[in-house]
This record gives sequence, structure tokens and C-alpha cells, in this order.
Amino acid sequence: MNNVYDAIVVGAGPAGSMAAYVAAKLGLKVLVIDRFRFPRVKPCGGGLTQKSVTLLRAMGINPEPAIRDSCNKVIITNYAGSFLLTDKEPIISVVSRDEFDNYLLTNALNEGVDYLVDRVIKVNVSNDRAVVTGLNDVYVGNYVIAADGANSIIARQIGNDIRKDTAIAFMSIARGDFLNDLCIIDMTRIRWGYSWVFPRSNNEYDVGIGSIHWGNYRTQLTRYINELGMREGVILGHPIPIRPRNILTSKRVVLVGDAGGFADPTTGEGIFYAMYTGVLAALALRRSINSVEFVSKYLRLTRPLIRNLSLAYYLSLSVYGIDNLVMGRAGLSAFSSTGSLIKNVMSGRTWYQQAIKSIIKYSLIKGPQTILKKALR
Ligand SMILES: Cc1cc2nc3c(=O)[nH]c(=O)nc-3n(C[C@H](O)[C@H](O)[C@H](O)COP(=O)(O)OP(=O)(O)OC[C@H]3O[C@@H](n4cnc5c(N)ncnc54)[C@H](O)[C@@H]3O)c2cc1C
Repeated sequence: MNNVYDAIVVGAGPAGSMAAYVAAKLGLKVLVIDRFRFPRVKPCGGGLTQKSVTLLRAMGINPEPAIRDSCNKVIITNYAGSFLLTDKEPIISVVSRDEFDNYLLTNALNEGVDYLVDRVIKVNVSNDRAVVTGLNDVYVGNYVIAADGANSIIARQIGNDIRKDTAIAFMSIARGDFLNDLCIIDMTRIRWGYSWVFPRSNNEYDVGIGSIHWGNYRTQLTRYINELGMREGVILGHPIPIRPRNILTSKRVVLVGDAGGFADPTTGEGIFYAMYTGVLAALALRRSINSVEFVSKYLRLTRPLIRNLSLAYYLSLSVYGIDNLVMGRAGLSAFSSTGSLIKNVMSGRTWYQQAIKSIIKYSLIKGPQTILKKALR
């Protein structure tokens, strides 16, 4: 307990490692604590969108060494049929999370960040310090960036109900002879969610299934993998938060990534939001002279994102709901005709605020119109 750090980052996933990396680049003395020695396994599809790749490059990290495969073509299947998204740049770049997270952490360590393996059990703050207690030791810093994932002990400690507003997803690394360079997203295999197949080279595929509705989807996943003609590996499941937490900060502490509830409720994409909020937390540390300034800067920087994801939450509930309750039965989808829109949202070119008008137009006006036309035929 000799060192006093400028910032202690709890969790070395994409949120924690990016926060640590940027904070160290800004000249701060940073400690990252993770309960596991890296590389460690993290259940994930490993799909990086274009905005994730752009963010990494913008922060001075070359993503290429961590990318296993990439998809310039994505087939999306919904009740209305299948449509193909194509782009010159990969729409989805596929990483293996053990390798990717280790790569990000290594980048942070190369900037001078300290890293320790310990399981954090609580954080105490006083007027001038934050004290992080682990099972092995106690660590002292000025500020804490909580990046301890969807089951965050720190999010709970500052007053959040972390079981609220979460989706669940299961994945497996399947092996077989399937299509490469093509990602598949199928919205007809599960209610209120979708399944995916992401190639990761060497005849390996990240195959998974996730839904806003909690359930044990292991059997469904095994059936899906077998139908694709592949052999499943170990099946792992994990929650994904689908809404920013009610309480995102407390004195000297900010929540980032899954700990803060930052993931896209429509797609389950969380890696971008984890890295992005990690970067914002590090930027909030810069020249903050006290804890009030640190947390208010972080809240100010994340406000547009919170607005966007909160809107996406209601949007996803209504669009999945319309699909599930109305359109699926008629062989139609509220997501059809939205191919380029989905591509733009995934790439980061469009935010949900802009997307909402087109989706409402389709799902509330065009969709019922088409059902009516079909019925009258
Ligand atoms: C099955 C599945 C598929 C997914 N697929 C995709 C996808 O294709 N693309 C995408 O963008 N997102 C995907 N996501 C979401 C994505 O995985 C998460 O949003 C992302 O990992 C969040 O990053 P994070 O750094 O906030 O948390 P995590 O990656 O969960 O990292 C948290 C870290 O904190 C550590 N930790 C936890 N508790 C403690 C403690 N008490 N003390 C110390 N350390 C602790 C953990 O060991 C871990 O290393 C998927 C999620 C699931 C479950």
C-alpha cells in the first residue's frame, strides 16, 4: 500500500485497458487490477464494428494484429427474408477476446501502466482518496474507474440494481467447414434477439445466440450449430447490459463499459461503447482538480451517448416487439428495408437519433401497409 496512484482501474477488459492506456498517455500514474491473469477467456462474439476499428486507430492502436478474420459481407435474415450488406471496408472484424483484450492490456502496459491480479471486493472513498480493497491487498488512488463488467461489484456498491435491463447471450467456438469472410445475423431463430455466425479463420466460427428475454439458450445454440454442419465447443453465457445505469458516478468513482450499462440494446454491441467510455473517463481525469470536477466532466462527456443508448433502448423494445408480436406472424419484419440504416448505425455514421425517423416510418407505416396489401391479395 505504498503507491498512491492517480487512477485505479478495476477490470482489464476493453473499457479498463483503454481507460488505462489513455490515462497513461496523458501522463498519469495508473494501476489496473483484474481478477484474472491475462490472457483470460471472455464469452463474446468478438465482432468489432467499423467505429471500433476507427476508435482504436484514432487512439494510436493498430487493430490489425488482433484481427482474426473480417467480413465485408454480412447476411441479415429476418421474417421478411434475407438481405446482404456489403462494404469496401470490413463491416465486422472478428477478434478472439482472449487475444484482443490481452493486446489492449499490453498496449496499456507499454505506456507504463501497472497491472495486478486481485479480486476487488469494495471501494471506499474519503475527501482526498479512494481505497480499493482486494482479496490480496489494499490499493490507494485519487480516482477509481470501474470497468469490472456486467456483474460489476462497484456498480452494485454505488446503488445500482445490476440485474435490471440486461440481455443474455450464449456463444461457442464451433469448428467445421463453413463459409469464410461472411458474417451471418439471423433474427428469426430466437424471440427478441438474434443468432450470429462470425468466422475467425482456421475453420473456427464464433456462433452465438442472445436475447433481451432471459433464458437458457444452450440447447437452441447446439441445435443451430449442428444444423450448420459444425461441431460446438464449450458453451458460455454472460449478461449484456442494455441500458446505461441509473447511477453512473459517485464521489471519486465513475462506471465505464458494461459496468456502466453501456451496450447497444439492439445489437448487443458492447466493445465499442466499453472502449469509448474508457477513453472518456481518462479524458475526464485530465486536469481535473477535484472529484467534483472529475465526475461532472465524465457525466458531461457521456451525456450524448447516454441519450443515444437510452433512445436505442426504447427503439429496440418497440422494433423487436413489433417483429415478435405482429410482423413475424405475417412473415414480415420491422427491420426489413433498413439494411443501409443498420449498416450506418453499426459503422457509427448514423446515431439512433437520426435513425429513428426512418425506422418509425417503416415499422409503423410501411409495415402494416404491406400486411394489409398481402391480406387483400
Ligand atoms: C455472448 C456475448 C457475445 C457478445 N458479442 C459481442 C460482439 O460480437 N461485439 C461487441 O461489440 N460486443 C459483444 N458483446 C458485448 C461485449 O462482450 C461487452 O460489452 C464487453 O466485453 C464490455 O467490456 P468491458 O471492458 O466493459 O467488460 P468485460 O469485457 O466484461 O471486462 C471486465 C473485466 O473486469 C474483470 N473483473 C470483474 N470483476 C472484477 C473484480 N471484482 N475485481 C477485479 N476484476 C474484475 C473481469 O475479469 C474482466 O476482465 C457480447 C457479449 C456476450 C455475453
